[in-house]
Amino acid sequence: PLNAILGFAQVLRDKPLVLKKEKAQRYAQNIITSGNNLLKMINDLLDLAKTQAGKLGLHVETTSVESLLENVLSQFSLLTKKKKIKVKLVQNSDLPPLVTDVGKVQQILYNFMSNAVKFTPSRGKIEIEAQFPSPGAKDMGPEPRMIRIAVTDTGCGVAEQDRQKIFEKFRQADGSITRESTGSGLGLAISKELAAMLAGSIGLESPPKGRAEGSAFWLDIPITLTIDEKQTVQATGSD
Ligand code: ADP
Repeated sequence: PLNAILGFAQVLRDKPLVLKKEKAQRYAQNIITSGNNLLKMINDLLDLAKTQAGKLGLHVETTSVESLLENVLSQFSLLTKKKKIKVKLVQNSDLPPLVTDVGKVQQILYNFMSNAVKFTPSRGKIEIEAQFPSPGAKDMGPEPRMIRIAVTDTGCGVAEQDRQKIFEKFRQADGSITRESTGSGLGLAISKELAAMLAGSIGLESPPKGRAEGSAFWLDIPITLTIDEKQTVQATGSD
């Protein structure tokens, strides 16, 4: 993106009077878009460096699942409107409040949502759902201890051979230079590290159960992040 920024800025500097207004505006827009892409890449790299250096602390607070999900969705309302994507929030009515690092949960869900919006064609659907893990899941006791938040889309899905590698750093399903989508290939790798800090995990189902297309990215975390779990995370965070 920096090459694009420099290139368009140079044209604007060298030919300010030759360029028609619309063309000049388009070039300026390209600079803004590339600048935003570059900013995202730099922020991703900084986040990754911080998680790997064990420099990200935990800030545990209490929140309702509903306000957490609404907060994430509100950040995408303009984008989804522009792509005419239908967004649905589904949640089990008896979910207890979450006691966790809310900022990190939001960052993971933000990554899931930005990918869902990016890879879903216009007029597609995105669903964000919070629920207890299904019966039979390993943490299912009389009192559920875990919660699953999943973002399901009707996008291009992820081919079987790519399902592992997209969680690695700098890996994308289509790594070609001509790929249409922007991105650094770091969002899921960072999300994986953040989920581990929350004593949880992330994963993918593609296509989601009972559907013909798309993907579902899920985050499983304890409803209450306890001191023990935090200590374990800090102890393993340095390797
Ligand atoms: P980035 O989006 O910056 O490339 P990520 O780590 O967030 O990096 O995603 C890695 C890759 O996983 C993407 O480039 C894409 O190939 C694939 N991917 C992620 N989310 C989706 C999705 N919802 N639908 C289809 N492919 C996806």
